[in-house]
Amino acid sequence: MIKETFSKVASFLSNDVGIDLGTANTLVYIKGAGIVVNEPTVVAINVKTGQIIAIGRDAAAMIGRTPVHIEIVRPLSNGVISDFEAAQEYVSYFLRRAEEKTGRKLLRPRVVVGSPSGITNVERRAIRKAARHAGAREVMVLEEPLLAAIGVRLPVHDPVGSFVIDMGGGTTDIAVISLGGIYHSRHTTVAGDRLNEDIIDYVRDEYKVLIGERTAEYLKKTTASIEEPDEEIETVVQGRDLVSGLPREITITDHDIREAVKQSIRLLTREVVQVFEITPPEMSADVSKRGIVFTGGGALMRGLPEYLGTKLEIPVMVPDDPLTSVVLGTSIVLEDPERFAAAFIHDDEIPLQI
Ligand code: ADP
Ligand code: MG
Repeated sequence: MIKETFSKVASFLSNDVGIDLGTANTLVYIKGAGIVVNEPTVVAINVKTGQIIAIGRDAAAMIGRTPVHIEIVRPLSNGVISDFEAAQEYVSYFLRRAEEKTGRKLLRPRVVVGSPSGITNVERRAIRKAARHAGAREVMVLEEPLLAAIGVRLPVHDPVGSFVIDMGGGTTDIAVISLGGIYHSRHTTVAGDRLNEDIIDYVRDEYKVLIGERTAEYLKKTTASIEEPDEEIETVVQGRDLVSGLPREITITDHDIREAVKQSIRLLTREVVQVFEITPPEMSADVSKRGIVFTGGGALMRGLPEYLGTKLEIPVMVPDDPLTSVVLGTSIVLEDPERFAAAFIHDDEIPLQI
């Protein structure tokens, strides 16, 4: 009785938290306050001492401007998260940021976190342990594409097939969901980062100019158009001339970007087709009728949803804000965790004593 009352009080005081640990962006949701943190998933590390110097927005501001002993890493793309200390600092940082933003103290919160596809069990355990160390009473881990589907309010519990493409920075998840779980999924590294690399490579080969990652990212957002636009898009950027070694301005068009990313977009399309091909006929009939949902930052690439729709001959829908689908999924799970319990990923960790 006392225990029950205590846990009721605790759940009233604690603010439940949802975290989308994306390879490119980390978002934190707090029950009652909404999405309170949205920062790049980057860490600045002193390579001499191994110490973390800055995390998130502060670390991102250092990109391209660091002295030699400081390295900027993307902890989820580079495997640093398997280092427990780094994971712990990382998760604590975001929980602290959430506290700062809301002016509330998180009291032994329940935490729902997305498990990025392709991470190892060791990495997943590091994330879970880190959240526990940061004070979480309970940590519920679900697959990211499932959270994306929940976030866009697909009827994930129904006996109908839902098809989700979640294209982030480091990975793209392609998943078929039915009856509360993932029926089949696949992930590929053909995602936002790869497209940036394509753009850098293309500009180097075609113009003999080296551009930085930020510039490539900027071009992708401003100039890319996977379907040919009515009017040509032109953007002037600066790079370093590989022959003279001096800064040089170049004009990049939508045609350049299309050429640059052509191969990757083809590969991505093939991956989606492959998932579709192994989907049982009843479910693929559902998907043909109801369409594919496209989430993650990649869904914002101009013309990409339309291109995929045409290639697959299935409507492709993009939610209003595809960058927040996963974290919105965590918020829906927090409303009634029991309903989603079958989808929680358990690992064989030894419970941590705090
Ligand atoms: P993750 O889940 O891996 O953190 P996100 O879903 O936050 O990734 O998406 C980030 C990716 O989306 C980045 O690679 C970014 O370049 C890309 N992105 C964001 N906006 C656009 C846009 N308008 N056009 C093309 N790509 C975009
Ligand atoms: Mg994501």
